[in-house]
Amino acid sequence: MKIAVLPGDGIGTEIVAEALRVLEALDLSFETETALVGGAAYEAHGHPLPESTLKLAKEADAVLFGAVGDWKYDKLERSLRPEQAILGLRKNLGLFANFRPAICYEQLVDASSLKPELIAGLDILIIRELTGDIYFGQPRGRRTAVDGHFPGADEAFDTMRYSRPEVERIAHVAFQAARKRNKRVTSVDKANVLETFQFWKDIVTEVGKEYPDVELDHMYVDNAAMQLVKAPKKFDVVVTGNMFGDILSDEAAMLTGSIGMLPSASLNSSNQGLYEPSHGSAPDIAGKGVANPLATILSAAMMLRFSLNQPEAADRIESAVKHVLAQGLRTADIWSAGTTKVGTREMGDAVVAAITKKTITG
Ligand code: NAD
Repeated sequence: MKIAVLPGDGIGTEIVAEALRVLEALDLSFETETALVGGAAYEAHGHPLPESTLKLAKEADAVLFGAVGDWKYDKLERSLRPEQAILGLRKNLGLFANFRPAICYEQLVDASSLKPELIAGLDILIIRELTGDIYFGQPRGRRTAVDGHFPGADEAFDTMRYSRPEVERIAHVAFQAARKRNKRVTSVDKANVLETFQFWKDIVTEVGKEYPDVELDHMYVDNAAMQLVKAPKKFDVVVTGNMFGDILSDEAAMLTGSIGMLPSASLNSSNQGLYEPSHGSAPDIAGKGVANPLATILSAAMMLRFSLNQPEAADRIESAVKHVLAQGLRTADIWSAGTTKVGTREMGDAVVAAITKKTITG
């Protein structure tokens, strides 16, 4: 097993270091190789995704990724900005399925802005298609309008598009994921106004016939945004396109209170994957040793389960995380009165201790 480790920028280096210590505590045999990505790679090599980093990622079974970005790169031309590294990795590795579980841990029920009864026990999975939709459709650009409400004015345009194989493969991923959970899929679309999403809905319905044991329903994206805050526990697996998934997965993330707790996985058709926390590089707290490493540690657990075929090791990490929360240990982002505030390193120590069954201190 080979893991490409790409810590990136900001808190990325701090949180990935803890995830690596947790992986090492499992006593599995795997090889890791670390490379620069994002702003750090731009500084060293003049590009956020250097050839050598891409080669390493392609050859590995999985990529453990921290986060990239810093406001100081905002003025760079778009192709050189740190965030382009993620798009480049997705494209080159063919990562089309993004998994974002939103789980509310019993001990963190008060961290959410929603009423505890709405989110206690929440366990939903948002599956976002990653390679198509309006984010990549061509043509796109700026021009002078020839028609519309203001002919002759400057205008900008993008193209929303999905092909049949793209919708079919993400639908299969969703139904198969639902089979391992509560056997319900909600496909989110905007079929009432968008041709692309009527097409999406028709294809998801067709694919659904191959999974008679999984219940399928369809929901418009505006309603889904409302239902996620009104009755989030009604969902099991939500599958949607790239843009709606981008927005809904962040909304789902915040249901649980802290983005510092949420892992994610992006997979291709051979289960090679990129695993990263759902948050960014948090330049405001970088270098202070206060970032929550649990989202990255839980991403490493997803990596063991989905790409490295080590489900028991994944379970051990997830149980260790529950254990440290039950111990009352909290980083600043999830701290509340009556719990013990710890830094990034101490949180990593506690998870390692829970895995190796040593006494937890501090
Ligand atoms: P962010 O997710 O980095 O931070 C948002 C807020 O959440 C900040 O207050 C931050 O301190 C806090 N936060 C985030 N992760 C945390 C953690 N593990 N522990 C405790 N607190 C945490 O989003 P942002 O501030 O909008 O963006 C900062 C940079 O990150 C930008 O350059 C952005 O482009 C980049 N970004 C990268 C990714 C990625 O690498 N996948 C994703 C989103 C944003």
